[in-house]
Amino acid sequence: MTGTKTNADVIVIGGGPAGVAASLALRSAGVENVMLLDREADLGGATRHCGHSPFGMLEYGRVYIGAAYGRRLEADARAAGVDIRTGHSVVQLKSGGEIVVTSPQGVEGLSARRVLVATGTRETPRSARLLPGDRPVGILTTGALQAYTAFHRMMPFKRPLIAGSELVSISAVLTCLAHGARPVAMVETAPQFLARRAFGMFPRLAGIPVFTGAEILDIRGEGRVEQVVIRSGGETRTFDCDGLLLTGQFTPEATLFQTSSMNVDRASRGPAVDQFGRCLDPTYFAAGNILRPVETGGWSFREGRAIGRAIADDLRRETPTDDIVPISFSDPIKLVVPNMLRRQPGDAALRFFQLRVARHIRGRLILELDGRIIWDKKSQWLPERRILVPLPATALTASSVHLAIEEF
Ligand SMILES: Cc1cc2nc3c(=O)[nH]c(=O)nc-3n(C[C@H](O)[C@H](O)[C@H](O)COP(=O)(O)OP(=O)(O)OC[C@H]3O[C@@H](n4cnc5c(N)ncnc54)[C@H](O)[C@@H]3O)c2cc1C
Repeated sequence: MTGTKTNADVIVIGGGPAGVAASLALRSAGVENVMLLDREADLGGATRHCGHSPFGMLEYGRVYIGAAYGRRLEADARAAGVDIRTGHSVVQLKSGGEIVVTSPQGVEGLSARRVLVATGTRETPRSARLLPGDRPVGILTTGALQAYTAFHRMMPFKRPLIAGSELVSISAVLTCLAHGARPVAMVETAPQFLARRAFGMFPRLAGIPVFTGAEILDIRGEGRVEQVVIRSGGETRTFDCDGLLLTGQFTPEATLFQTSSMNVDRASRGPAVDQFGRCLDPTYFAAGNILRPVETGGWSFREGRAIGRAIADDLRRETPTDDIVPISFSDPIKLVVPNMLRRQPGDAALRFFQLRVARHIRGRLILELDGRIIWDKKSQWLPERRILVPLPATALTASSVHLAIEEF
């Protein structure tokens, strides 16, 4: 390994919507040397293999399919003078902004005044879902399926069963139908379809039966998937199929944090960040889907842009404070981002607490500062859906910040 050098004002790790938008914001704010590293051959992140729309409406005022949106991001980053290094995998984050990178040129130590980590999310694979049964070929996530179809022109099955009903399951259905496959059914463990109601109609309109409250009991197949057995509504059903498409159940791609001194937040499973997107080690920031599973490309872009601006401000400021306001929450809230606040002036990049709940809830969502309710809202919420609570400036002077839901 070569010696560590200070190579950039800011190193951005991950060239998806969040990392590119942050790089553009940094360059627009006059930051001279912005280096963008991605392990893939092209920028665009998870959008590159999405052969469907909608991407780019708010940021570009037009609708792109994912692959074209990814190309637009790369073109914009080049035009802005970002130092783009693809084929570069970051393998370690060290304290104070030093990182270790591997590439075809070898292993290299790099460092910068600030480092932004925007490595996105991944869908939970079969092993981590603890699914029973045989281990045949033909069990894939949506991202893997789309990479097969987009980059290798391969369709690995004709009659898959789709597991999951988050928004990405609609992307899975579209990909199957566009490539001549006909899903035999969709199954969801939750008692209701998780994507928005309008999307929930879509599989049924396409003639794909949907089973909610369903558990996979067995996967059968010698060599490749032949049958999947489920239990739903007290009945056991066996589907003849040639694949199992696992959708959703996203988890932040935060291995770099797990192996660093910063570790991850237990609830979000991404790095803990404050209102500026800044991590526990103040040299590091994080943005995009690494913060919480899972948001749209447009949301990740806007979040990256805001955090890029916060980093540009930070480069002009003196050392950050270590005076941190902890944020607590109680069940059924599953995660809250930002996960902490720093008592520091400056425009917050994250202007809302972003929440997710563990199950379908009806109730009153409350925000308490020092035990006093200062905001509330009555509604109902579904798992995996975005919930936003305005982040008041007064939270920075509180000793405690707590979010809770009183269920009806
Ligand atoms: C199947 C699927 C369908 C989707 N459909 C839509 C849609 O229709 N509309 C929509 O708005 N959104 C959609 N999304 C969501 C959208 O793709 C994401 O919100 C967006 O890409 C997240 O941006 P990001 O920058 O946070 O992360 P990503 O786009 O995931 O980018 C992360 C980048 O980090 C790089 N990286 C990771 N680890 C390292 C490392 N150690 N070293 C170097 N580089 C690294 C990766 O190569 C990648 O390029 C879909 C997502 C999926 C998976």
